[in-house]
Amino acid sequence: MTGQLAIVGLGPGAAALQTPQATEALATATDLIGYAPYLDRVPPRPGQARHGSDNRVELERARHALDLATQGRRVAVVSSGDAGVFAMASAVFEAVEAGPAEWRTLDIEVVPGISAMFAAAARLGAPLGHDFCALSLSDNLKPWPLVLHRLVAAASAGFVLALYNAASRARPWQLGAALDALRPVLPPATPVAFATAVTRADEAIVLASLADADPACADMRTLVLIGSAATRTIERPGTQPYLYTPRSVAA
Ligand code: SAH
Repeated sequence: MTGQLAIVGLGPGAAALQTPQATEALATATDLIGYAPYLDRVPPRPGQARHGSDNRVELERARHALDLATQGRRVAVVSSGDAGVFAMASAVFEAVEAGPAEWRTLDIEVVPGISAMFAAAARLGAPLGHDFCALSLSDNLKPWPLVLHRLVAAASAGFVLALYNAASRARPWQLGAALDALRPVLPPATPVAFATAVTRADEAIVLASLADADPACADMRTLVLIGSAATRTIERPGTQPYLYTPRSVAA
């Protein structure tokens, strides 16, 4: 055993939603590695090296982390939300699988975090109370026709959908196309929620129906939740309704 590598999920934003285990892994690391805005969420510590990087270089970042761990460092790679959901943990294991044998002798630990879908669901009520499916709309790592195929298959099968990476400057039209693909397979009244920057200072929740959902409500900090035919809305006077999916469906 040489160094150690922890892949740490920071949670959705609020400090209170970072686990004590994550805080401990960050505090004891000699080196922090990650997308610069995520590193900014970790308070600086004297003597700790910080290696910020661009968002698109995940594999390079993973190899860098593994190299540092091989040199005996205690490295923490940070991800937002959960480290294994559309995040750095898979990039690290892709690098390990293709990399030198000594990387397999490292002590690698994945430290889980609260994923955006759980933080968003908690703000809305209980939309993930029955079967659901998490999909990334990013077509960087898979072809767009496959994204559409999975979306339509999951919605047709009755899963509630939690959509990550629904929109960004580089991904301007995909969410609109995704909603258009879902309209023929789900009732027009199906609830759609745009949960942006959940648990951060600029959090915003927009509720719509599939018929009138406006893809412009999403940006790169938005989790889009699309109900199933079973998802219910409980109206409340003067405030946001609850959205929930009952635990059971009829046979
Ligand atoms: N590992 C992360 C997901 C990274 S992919 C996790 O488990 O949450 C990045 C996407 O996550 C964003 O495009 C957005 O869809 C979602 N996301 C991350 N933080 C969020 C937050 N605080 N509120 C809403 N969505 C968020």
